[in-house]
Amino acid sequence: MSDCIFCRIVAGTIPSIRICEDAHALAFMDIRPIQPGHALVIPKQHVVNVIDMEPADYDGVMRMAQRVGRAIGAEWRPPKVGMAVIGFDVAHAHVHVLPLLTMSDLTSARLLDGSLKAGAMDELKRNGEQLRARLA
Ligand SMILES: [Zn+2]
Repeated sequence: MSDCIFCRIVAGTIPSIRICEDAHALAFMDIRPIQPGHALVIPKQHVVNVIDMEPADYDGVMRMAQRVGRAIGAEWRPPKVGMAVIGFDVAHAHVHVLPLLTMSDLTSARLLDGSLKAGAMDELKRNGEQLRARLA
């Protein structure tokens, strides 16, 4: 038996409120919703990081996240539907999909406390060069 809580949710050995499922992905309600309607979409295959998912699982998870997000938008009519990949809490890749009523529902603590400043242009250019080199 896996000790990964999300693998156990996929297996059905611990309860969850499932809302959508296919061969690659499972969507269920977040047990600690930031707003009503807050759901999680996970790959059925265990992987820690979203960026490490197999392409078919990634496509399946992101497609399901879009479908769930559209359902959230239709049901609650929030100003925004947000998606986020954070993952410090559970070591099984997951996408949060939720209604956003305010920016503070899902954003950087540094942005909210005013300490996040615009990056220096030379650093932004250097960081862009680093990523372009990795993507080449
Ligand atoms: Zn897992």
